[in-house]
Amino acid sequence: MSDDLILRGGTVFDGTGAPRFQADVAIKAGRISAIGDLAGRAAAKTVDVGGLAVAPGFIDVHTHDDAALIETPAMEMKASQGVTTVICGNCGASAAPYDKTRGIGSVLGLLFKDTSLVCATMGEFLGKVEAAQPAINGAFLVGHSTLRMSVMGDDLNRHARADEIGQMKSMLKGALEDGAIGMSSGLFYPPAMPAKTEELIELVEPLGPAKGVYTAHIRDEGEHITEALEEAFAIGRAAGGRTVISHHKCNGRVNFGRSPQTLAQIEAAMRSQPVGFDVYPYIAGSTILRPEMIERAEKVLITGSQVMPEARGRDLAELAREMQMTPLEAAKRLVPGGAIYFMMDEGDVRRILSHEKAMVGSDGIPGDAHPHPRLWGTFPRVLGHYSRDLGLFPLEDAVRRMTGLSATNFGLKDRGFLKPGAFADICVFDPATIIDTATFEKPIQPARGVHLVMANGVAVWQDGKATGNRPGKVLKRQDQLAA
Ligand SMILES: [Zn+2]
Repeated sequence: MSDDLILRGGTVFDGTGAPRFQADVAIKAGRISAIGDLAGRAAAKTVDVGGLAVAPGFIDVHTHDDAALIETPAMEMKASQGVTTVICGNCGASAAPYDKTRGIGSVLGLLFKDTSLVCATMGEFLGKVEAAQPAINGAFLVGHSTLRMSVMGDDLNRHARADEIGQMKSMLKGALEDGAIGMSSGLFYPPAMPAKTEELIELVEPLGPAKGVYTAHIRDEGEHITEALEEAFAIGRAAGGRTVISHHKCNGRVNFGRSPQTLAQIEAAMRSQPVGFDVYPYIAGSTILRPEMIERAEKVLITGSQVMPEARGRDLAELAREMQMTPLEAAKRLVPGGAIYFMMDEGDVRRILSHEKAMVGSDGIPGDAHPHPRLWGTFPRVLGHYSRDLGLFPLEDAVRRMTGLSATNFGLKDRGFLKPGAFADICVFDPATIIDTATFEKPIQPARGVHLVMANGVAVWQDGKATGNRPGKVLKRQDQLAA
Protein backbone atom coordinates (compact mmCIF):
# COMPACT_ATOMS: atom_id res chain seq x y z
CA MET A 1 0.00 0.00 0.00
CA SER A 2 1.39 3.37 -0.96
CA ASP A 3 1.67 6.40 1.24
CA ASP A 4 -0.80 9.28 1.23
CA LEU A 5 1.92 11.87 0.91
CA ILE A 6 5.69 12.17 0.72
CA LEU A 7 7.47 15.41 1.57
CA ARG A 8 10.60 15.09 -0.59
CA GLY A 9 14.06 16.47 -0.10
CA GLY A 10 13.54 18.53 3.04
CA THR A 11 15.87 19.11 5.96
CA VAL A 12 14.50 17.25 8.96
CA PHE A 13 14.58 18.71 12.46
CA ASP A 14 13.19 15.75 14.37
CA GLY A 15 12.35 17.46 17.67
CA THR A 16 15.04 15.71 19.72
CA GLY A 17 17.62 18.44 19.18
CA ALA A 18 19.75 16.11 17.01
CA PRO A 19 21.57 17.71 14.07
CA ARG A 20 19.37 18.36 11.02
CA PHE A 21 19.54 15.83 8.20
CA GLN A 22 18.29 15.49 4.62
CA ALA A 23 15.38 13.07 4.28
CA ASP A 24 12.01 12.39 2.74
CA VAL A 25 9.06 12.11 5.12
CA ALA A 26 6.17 9.80 4.25
CA ILE A 27 2.69 10.09 5.75
CA LYS A 28 -0.09 7.57 5.83
CA ALA A 29 -3.42 7.60 7.65
CA GLY A 30 -2.49 10.63 9.71
CA ARG A 31 0.81 9.30 10.94
CA ILE A 32 4.41 9.35 9.76
CA SER A 33 5.05 6.08 7.94
CA ALA A 34 8.72 6.48 7.04
CA ILE A 35 11.66 8.91 7.16
CA GLY A 36 14.75 8.54 5.01
CA ASP A 37 15.70 8.17 1.35
CA LEU A 38 12.32 7.14 -0.03
CA ALA A 39 13.21 7.52 -3.71
CA GLY A 40 11.60 4.27 -4.83
CA ARG A 41 8.49 4.65 -2.71
CA ALA A 42 5.07 5.40 -4.19
CA ALA A 43 2.65 7.94 -2.79
CA ALA A 44 -0.72 9.37 -3.77
CA LYS A 45 0.86 12.80 -3.62
CA THR A 46 4.36 14.22 -3.48
CA VAL A 47 5.44 17.67 -2.36
CA ASP A 48 8.94 18.96 -3.03
CA VAL A 49 10.24 20.66 0.12
CA GLY A 50 13.87 20.99 -0.99
CA GLY A 51 15.67 23.75 0.88
CA LEU A 52 12.99 23.88 3.56
CA ALA A 53 12.96 22.67 7.16
CA VAL A 54 10.57 19.86 8.08
CA ALA A 55 9.86 19.92 11.81
CA PRO A 56 7.24 18.54 14.18
CA GLY A 57 4.25 20.87 14.48
CA PHE A 58 4.87 23.30 17.32
CA ILE A 59 3.18 22.82 20.68
CA ASP A 60 2.04 26.06 22.26
CA VAL A 61 2.25 25.03 25.91
CA HIS A 62 0.75 28.19 27.32
CA THR A 63 -2.49 29.39 25.77
CA HIS A 64 -5.90 30.80 26.51
CA ASP A 65 -7.36 29.28 23.35
CA ASP A 66 -10.17 27.32 25.06
CA ALA A 67 -12.93 29.42 23.47
CA ALA A 68 -10.97 30.22 20.29
CA LEU A 69 -10.91 26.55 19.27
CA ILE A 70 -14.71 26.76 19.14
CA GLU A 71 -15.21 30.35 17.97
CA THR A 72 -12.43 30.52 15.37
CA PRO A 73 -11.81 26.84 14.57
CA ALA A 74 -9.42 27.61 11.69
CA MET A 75 -7.08 28.86 14.45
CA GLU A 76 -5.16 31.00 11.97
CA MET A 77 -3.22 32.88 14.65
CA LYS A 78 -1.62 29.59 15.65
CA ALA A 79 -1.66 27.50 12.46
CA SER A 80 0.10 30.37 10.63
CA GLN A 81 3.03 30.01 13.05
CA GLY A 82 3.30 26.25 12.60
CA VAL A 83 1.51 25.46 15.85
CA THR A 84 -0.47 22.21 15.71
CA THR A 85 -1.31 21.70 19.39
CA VAL A 86 -2.36 24.21 22.04
CA ILE A 87 -2.46 23.61 25.81
CA CYS A 88 -5.50 25.51 27.12
CA GLY A 89 -6.90 26.43 30.53
CA ASN A 90 -3.79 28.12 31.88
CA CYS A 91 -3.32 30.71 34.63
CA GLY A 92 -6.12 29.25 36.74
CA ALA A 93 -8.88 29.98 34.22
CA SER A 94 -10.64 27.22 32.30
CA ALA A 95 -14.07 27.12 30.71
CA ALA A 96 -15.06 24.11 32.83
CA PRO A 97 -16.10 22.77 35.24
CA TYR A 98 -18.13 25.73 36.41
CA ASP A 99 -21.52 26.21 38.05
CA LYS A 100 -23.11 28.93 35.94
CA THR A 101 -25.80 29.70 38.47
CA ARG A 102 -22.91 31.60 40.10
CA GLY A 103 -22.86 34.08 37.22
CA ILE A 104 -19.71 34.69 35.19
CA GLY A 105 -17.12 36.75 37.06
CA SER A 106 -14.84 39.29 35.41
CA VAL A 107 -11.96 36.86 34.81
CA LEU A 108 -14.06 34.22 33.08
CA GLY A 109 -16.05 36.93 31.33
CA LEU A 110 -12.89 38.37 29.79
CA LEU A 111 -11.61 35.02 28.55
CA PHE A 112 -14.98 33.64 27.52
CA LYS A 113 -16.94 36.48 25.96
CA ASP A 114 -19.56 34.01 24.81
CA THR A 115 -20.41 32.78 28.27
CA SER A 116 -22.49 29.93 26.88
CA LEU A 117 -19.14 28.21 26.29
CA VAL A 118 -18.57 27.92 30.03
CA CYS A 119 -19.69 24.41 31.01
CA ALA A 120 -20.69 22.54 34.15
CA THR A 121 -18.41 19.63 33.28
CA MET A 122 -15.18 19.23 31.37
CA GLY A 123 -16.81 16.44 29.40
CA GLU A 124 -19.49 18.80 28.12
CA PHE A 125 -16.89 21.42 27.17
CA LEU A 126 -14.64 18.94 25.37
CA GLY A 127 -17.72 17.80 23.45
CA LYS A 128 -18.22 21.37 22.26
CA VAL A 129 -14.61 21.59 21.12
CA GLU A 130 -14.94 18.32 19.22
CA ALA A 131 -18.19 19.47 17.64
CA ALA A 132 -16.48 22.67 16.44
CA GLN A 133 -13.85 20.56 14.63
CA PRO A 134 -10.86 22.87 15.08
CA ALA A 135 -7.96 22.83 12.63
CA ILE A 136 -5.40 21.99 15.32
CA ASN A 137 -5.23 19.85 18.45
CA GLY A 138 -6.07 21.03 21.95
CA ALA A 139 -5.31 19.67 25.41
CA PHE A 140 -7.03 21.14 28.46
CA LEU A 141 -6.18 22.01 32.04
CA VAL A 142 -8.66 22.66 34.84
CA GLY A 143 -8.29 26.14 36.31
CA HIS A 144 -8.05 26.53 40.09
CA SER A 145 -9.74 29.96 39.88
CA THR A 146 -12.57 28.44 37.88
CA LEU A 147 -13.10 25.81 40.58
CA ARG A 148 -12.85 28.43 43.30
CA MET A 149 -15.36 30.81 41.73
CA SER A 150 -17.72 27.95 41.02
CA VAL A 151 -17.69 26.67 44.60
CA MET A 152 -17.28 29.94 46.54
CA GLY A 153 -19.25 32.35 44.35
CA ASP A 154 -18.42 35.97 45.14
CA ASP A 155 -17.15 35.12 48.60
CA LEU A 156 -13.56 34.74 47.36
CA ASN A 157 -11.66 37.00 49.67
CA ARG A 158 -10.63 34.22 52.02
CA HIS A 159 -9.07 30.79 52.24
CA ALA A 160 -11.45 28.01 51.19
CA ARG A 161 -13.09 25.94 53.93
CA ALA A 162 -12.44 22.22 54.13
CA ASP A 163 -15.84 21.34 52.67
CA GLU A 164 -15.26 23.75 49.78
CA ILE A 165 -11.85 22.27 49.06
CA GLY A 166 -13.55 18.88 49.10
CA GLN A 167 -16.03 20.06 46.48
CA MET A 168 -13.30 21.54 44.29
CA LYS A 169 -11.35 18.33 44.60
CA SER A 170 -14.23 16.20 43.40
CA MET A 171 -14.79 18.60 40.47
CA LEU A 172 -11.10 18.31 39.58
CA LYS A 173 -11.29 14.55 39.80
CA GLY A 174 -14.33 14.47 37.52
CA ALA A 175 -12.65 16.75 34.98
CA LEU A 176 -9.55 14.54 34.92
CA GLU A 177 -11.81 11.55 34.32
CA ASP A 178 -13.42 13.49 31.47
CA GLY A 179 -10.02 14.01 29.83
CA ALA A 180 -8.39 17.11 31.31
CA ILE A 181 -4.60 16.69 31.36
CA GLY A 182 -4.00 18.52 34.62
CA MET A 183 -4.64 21.67 36.60
CA SER A 184 -3.45 25.26 36.40
CA SER A 185 -3.40 27.96 39.04
CA GLY A 186 -3.11 31.73 38.87
CA LEU A 187 -2.35 32.81 42.42
CA PHE A 188 -1.36 36.21 40.98
CA TYR A 189 -5.01 36.96 40.16
CA PRO A 190 -7.65 38.33 42.57
CA PRO A 191 -9.99 35.30 42.55
CA ALA A 192 -7.12 33.07 43.71
CA MET A 193 -4.88 35.47 45.66
CA PRO A 194 -6.53 34.85 49.04
CA ALA A 195 -5.92 31.10 48.70
CA LYS A 196 -3.13 29.93 50.97
CA THR A 197 -0.63 27.36 49.78
CA GLU A 198 -2.46 24.71 51.85
CA GLU A 199 -5.63 25.12 49.79
CA LEU A 200 -3.72 24.11 46.66
CA ILE A 201 -1.72 21.39 48.40
CA GLU A 202 -4.91 19.70 49.43
CA LEU A 203 -6.74 20.33 46.18
CA VAL A 204 -4.10 18.85 43.87
CA GLU A 205 -4.30 15.37 45.38
CA PRO A 206 -6.25 13.86 42.43
CA LEU A 207 -3.46 14.91 40.04
CA GLY A 208 -1.03 12.26 41.32
CA PRO A 209 -2.97 9.09 40.48
CA ALA A 210 -4.08 10.67 37.18
CA LYS A 211 -0.49 11.64 36.26
CA GLY A 212 -1.81 15.14 35.70
CA VAL A 213 0.40 18.16 35.10
CA TYR A 214 0.32 21.21 37.38
CA THR A 215 0.99 24.55 35.69
CA ALA A 216 1.53 27.68 37.76
CA HIS A 217 1.21 31.35 37.05
CA ILE A 218 3.04 31.99 40.30
CA ARG A 219 1.87 34.38 42.99
CA ASP A 220 4.58 36.96 42.37
CA GLU A 221 6.97 37.40 39.43
CA GLY A 222 8.54 40.49 41.01
CA GLU A 223 10.17 41.15 44.35
CA HIS A 224 8.86 37.92 45.93
CA ILE A 225 9.58 35.60 43.01
CA THR A 226 11.84 33.32 45.07
CA GLU A 227 9.09 32.54 47.58
CA ALA A 228 6.50 32.24 44.81
CA LEU A 229 8.61 29.68 42.93
CA GLU A 230 9.10 27.68 46.13
CA GLU A 231 5.34 27.72 46.71
CA ALA A 232 4.71 26.32 43.22
CA PHE A 233 7.31 23.57 43.73
CA ALA A 234 5.69 22.65 47.07
CA ILE A 235 2.26 22.37 45.44
CA GLY A 236 3.79 20.32 42.63
CA ARG A 237 5.42 17.97 45.14
CA ALA A 238 2.04 17.44 46.80
CA ALA A 239 0.51 16.71 43.40
CA GLY A 240 3.23 14.18 42.75
CA GLY A 241 3.51 14.91 39.03
CA ARG A 242 5.20 17.49 36.85
CA THR A 243 5.13 21.17 37.73
CA VAL A 244 5.38 23.70 34.92
CA ILE A 245 6.24 27.29 35.79
CA SER A 246 4.29 29.41 33.32
CA HIS A 247 5.76 32.31 31.33
CA HIS A 248 8.86 32.61 33.48
CA LYS A 249 10.02 36.19 33.84
CA CYS A 250 11.42 38.73 36.28
CA ASN A 251 8.98 41.58 36.45
CA GLY A 252 9.67 45.20 37.25
CA ARG A 253 12.80 47.34 37.01
CA VAL A 254 14.07 46.45 40.48
CA ASN A 255 14.06 42.79 39.43
CA PHE A 256 15.90 43.23 36.15
CA GLY A 257 18.88 40.90 36.01
CA ARG A 258 17.54 38.38 38.51
CA SER A 259 17.10 35.55 36.00
CA PRO A 260 20.46 33.85 36.77
CA GLN A 261 19.19 33.45 40.31
CA THR A 262 15.67 32.28 39.38
CA LEU A 263 16.98 29.85 36.76
CA ALA A 264 19.39 28.42 39.33
CA GLN A 265 16.46 28.01 41.71
CA ILE A 266 14.44 26.18 39.04
CA GLU A 267 17.44 23.96 38.21
CA ALA A 268 17.82 23.10 41.89
CA ALA A 269 14.15 22.09 42.07
CA MET A 270 14.56 19.98 38.92
CA ARG A 271 17.13 17.86 40.73
CA SER A 272 14.53 16.64 43.22
CA GLN A 273 11.18 16.72 41.37
CA PRO A 274 9.88 16.93 37.79
CA VAL A 275 9.79 20.61 36.82
CA GLY A 276 9.48 22.42 33.52
CA PHE A 277 8.95 26.02 32.48
CA ASP A 278 7.94 28.07 29.50
CA VAL A 279 8.65 31.57 28.24
CA TYR A 280 7.47 33.96 25.53
CA PRO A 281 9.96 36.00 23.50
CA TYR A 282 9.01 39.59 24.42
CA ILE A 283 9.86 42.15 27.09
CA ALA A 284 6.18 43.03 27.52
CA GLY A 285 3.52 40.93 29.17
CA SER A 286 -0.23 41.12 28.74
CA THR A 287 -3.16 40.35 30.97
CA ILE A 288 -6.28 41.94 32.37
CA LEU A 289 -6.11 45.67 33.02
CA ARG A 290 -5.11 46.03 36.66
CA PRO A 291 -4.56 49.60 37.81
CA GLU A 292 -2.15 48.44 40.52
CA MET A 293 0.20 47.15 37.79
CA ILE A 294 0.48 50.51 36.02
CA GLU A 295 3.27 51.96 38.12
CA ARG A 296 5.49 48.92 37.68
CA ALA A 297 5.45 49.17 33.89
CA GLU A 298 7.67 51.34 31.71
CA LYS A 299 4.82 51.66 29.26
CA VAL A 300 1.24 50.37 29.04
CA LEU A 301 -0.82 49.69 25.90
CA ILE A 302 -4.55 49.01 26.10
CA THR A 303 -5.62 45.78 24.38
CA GLY A 304 -9.32 46.39 24.96
CA SER A 305 -11.79 48.07 27.30
CA GLN A 306 -15.42 47.21 27.73
CA VAL A 307 -16.38 50.74 28.75
CA MET A 308 -14.23 52.50 26.14
CA PRO A 309 -13.71 50.22 23.11
CA GLU A 310 -11.97 53.03 21.18
CA ALA A 311 -9.08 52.84 23.67
CA ARG A 312 -7.81 49.61 22.11
CA GLY A 313 -4.24 49.84 20.84
CA ARG A 314 -3.67 53.16 22.61
CA ASP A 315 -0.76 54.11 24.86
CA LEU A 316 -2.21 54.63 28.34
CA ALA A 317 -0.03 57.69 29.13
CA GLU A 318 -1.15 59.42 25.95
CA LEU A 319 -4.76 58.52 26.56
CA ALA A 320 -4.53 59.79 30.14
CA ARG A 321 -3.21 63.16 28.92
CA GLU A 322 -6.18 63.45 26.57
CA MET A 323 -8.52 62.51 29.37
CA GLN A 324 -6.76 65.06 31.60
CA MET A 325 -6.07 62.62 34.38
CA THR A 326 -3.21 60.49 35.68
CA PRO A 327 -2.53 57.12 34.01
CA LEU A 328 -3.74 55.42 37.19
CA GLU A 329 -7.05 57.29 37.08
CA ALA A 330 -7.42 56.55 33.39
CA ALA A 331 -6.74 52.87 33.97
CA LYS A 332 -9.41 52.75 36.67
CA ARG A 333 -11.81 54.34 34.19
CA LEU A 334 -11.05 51.71 31.51
CA VAL A 335 -11.62 48.64 33.70
CA PRO A 336 -12.68 45.96 32.82
CA GLY A 337 -10.28 45.48 29.98
CA GLY A 338 -6.87 44.19 28.99
CA ALA A 339 -3.42 45.71 28.70
CA ILE A 340 0.16 45.14 27.59
CA TYR A 341 2.78 45.99 30.20
CA PHE A 342 6.40 46.65 29.27
CA MET A 343 8.18 45.45 32.38
CA MET A 344 10.97 43.02 31.61
CA ASP A 345 14.63 43.24 30.79
CA GLU A 346 15.77 42.03 27.36
CA GLY A 347 18.80 40.38 28.95
CA ASP A 348 16.57 38.30 31.20
CA VAL A 349 14.29 37.37 28.31
CA ARG A 350 17.29 36.16 26.28
CA ARG A 351 18.79 34.24 29.17
CA ILE A 352 15.54 32.48 30.01
CA LEU A 353 14.76 31.80 26.35
CA SER A 354 18.21 30.27 25.84
CA HIS A 355 17.93 27.84 28.74
CA GLU A 356 18.09 24.21 27.63
CA LYS A 357 14.89 23.40 29.56
CA ALA A 358 12.83 26.43 28.45
CA MET A 359 9.75 25.52 26.45
CA VAL A 360 8.10 28.10 24.24
CA GLY A 361 4.56 29.21 25.04
CA SER A 362 2.78 32.22 23.60
CA ASP A 363 0.37 33.20 26.40
CA GLY A 364 -1.54 34.93 23.58
CA ILE A 365 -5.02 36.18 24.40
CA PRO A 366 -7.17 35.59 21.33
CA GLY A 367 -10.21 37.58 22.48
CA ASP A 368 -8.38 40.92 22.75
CA ALA A 369 -9.37 43.58 20.22
CA HIS A 370 -5.73 44.70 19.88
CA PRO A 371 -3.76 41.71 21.17
CA HIS A 372 -0.15 41.40 22.24
CA PRO A 373 1.85 40.41 19.11
CA ARG A 374 2.85 37.14 20.81
CA LEU A 375 -0.54 35.76 19.75
CA TRP A 376 0.57 35.68 16.08
CA GLY A 377 4.34 35.93 16.37
CA THR A 378 5.84 33.85 19.19
CA PHE A 379 7.20 30.79 17.40
CA PRO A 380 8.57 32.43 14.22
CA ARG A 381 10.13 35.11 16.44
CA VAL A 382 12.04 32.51 18.45
CA LEU A 383 13.18 30.73 15.27
CA GLY A 384 13.92 33.78 13.13
CA HIS A 385 14.90 36.55 15.50
CA TYR A 386 16.41 34.85 18.52
CA SER A 387 17.86 31.69 16.96
CA ARG A 388 18.86 32.69 13.42
CA ASP A 389 19.43 36.45 13.58
CA LEU A 390 20.84 36.78 17.09
CA GLY A 391 22.35 33.29 17.16
CA LEU A 392 21.42 32.69 20.79
CA PHE A 393 20.89 28.96 20.24
CA PRO A 394 20.92 26.52 17.31
CA LEU A 395 17.75 26.05 15.31
CA GLU A 396 17.72 22.37 16.30
CA ASP A 397 17.51 23.40 19.93
CA ALA A 398 14.80 25.99 19.27
CA VAL A 399 12.70 23.35 17.50
CA ARG A 400 13.27 20.84 20.31
CA ARG A 401 12.04 23.30 22.91
CA MET A 402 8.81 23.94 20.99
CA THR A 403 8.14 20.28 20.16
CA GLY A 404 9.82 17.27 21.75
CA LEU A 405 10.50 18.80 25.15
CA SER A 406 6.95 20.15 25.32
CA ALA A 407 5.34 16.83 24.37
CA THR A 408 7.47 15.08 26.98
CA ASN A 409 6.66 17.56 29.74
CA PHE A 410 2.92 17.41 29.07
CA GLY A 411 2.87 13.68 28.35
CA LEU A 412 1.49 14.04 24.82
CA LYS A 413 1.77 10.63 23.26
CA ASP A 414 3.21 10.27 19.75
CA ARG A 415 3.55 14.01 19.24
CA GLY A 416 6.44 16.45 19.30
CA PHE A 417 8.85 14.23 17.35
CA LEU A 418 9.27 13.28 13.71
CA LYS A 419 9.60 9.52 13.74
CA PRO A 420 7.74 6.63 12.15
CA GLY A 421 4.50 5.97 14.03
CA ALA A 422 4.15 9.51 15.38
CA PHE A 423 1.16 11.61 14.40
CA ALA A 424 1.90 13.67 11.29
CA ASP A 425 1.80 17.07 12.98
CA ILE A 426 4.33 18.87 10.80
CA CYS A 427 5.59 22.39 10.12
CA VAL A 428 7.49 23.06 6.89
CA PHE A 429 9.29 26.39 7.05
CA ASP A 430 12.14 28.25 5.44
CA PRO A 431 14.95 28.64 7.99
CA ALA A 432 16.39 31.52 5.97
CA THR A 433 13.27 33.67 5.97
CA ILE A 434 11.02 32.64 8.85
CA ILE A 435 10.15 35.68 10.98
CA ASP A 436 7.28 37.19 12.92
CA THR A 437 5.61 40.24 11.39
CA ALA A 438 3.12 40.98 14.18
CA THR A 439 4.11 44.13 16.06
CA PHE A 440 2.75 46.05 19.03
CA GLU A 441 1.30 48.52 16.54
CA LYS A 442 -0.03 45.92 14.07
CA PRO A 443 -0.42 42.72 16.05
CA ILE A 444 -2.71 40.71 13.79
CA GLN A 445 -0.39 39.54 11.01
CA PRO A 446 0.72 36.07 9.94
CA ALA A 447 4.42 35.28 10.10
CA ARG A 448 6.61 34.95 7.00
CA GLY A 449 8.39 31.78 5.94
CA VAL A 450 5.87 29.16 7.12
CA HIS A 451 5.08 27.13 3.99
CA LEU A 452 2.98 24.18 5.05
CA VAL A 453 1.45 23.12 8.35
CA MET A 454 -0.21 19.75 8.84
CA ALA A 455 -2.17 18.40 11.77
CA ASN A 456 -2.78 14.66 11.91
CA GLY A 457 -1.52 14.35 8.34
CA VAL A 458 -3.85 16.99 6.89
CA ALA A 459 -2.75 20.43 5.66
CA VAL A 460 -4.25 23.26 7.74
CA TRP A 461 -2.06 26.18 6.55
CA GLN A 462 -0.48 26.46 3.14
CA ASP A 463 0.86 29.27 0.94
CA GLY A 464 -0.02 31.99 3.41
CA LYS A 465 -3.56 30.99 4.22
CA ALA A 466 -5.75 28.52 6.07
CA THR A 467 -6.73 25.55 3.92
CA GLY A 468 -10.17 25.13 5.47
CA ASN A 469 -9.35 21.61 6.66
CA ARG A 470 -10.12 20.96 10.30
CA PRO A 471 -8.40 17.74 11.41
CA GLY A 472 -7.64 18.79 15.01
CA LYS A 473 -8.31 16.46 17.93
CA VAL A 474 -9.02 16.89 21.60
CA LEU A 475 -6.09 15.24 23.33
CA LYS A 476 -7.64 13.55 26.33
CA ARG A 477 -5.55 12.49 29.27
CA GLN A 478 -6.51 8.84 28.98
CA ASP A 479 -5.14 8.67 25.43
CA GLN A 480 -1.90 10.44 26.32
CA LEU A 481 0.64 10.00 29.07
CA ALA A 482 2.54 7.07 27.71
CA ALA A 483 4.96 7.54 30.57
ZN1 LIG B 1 -0.52 33.70 33.27
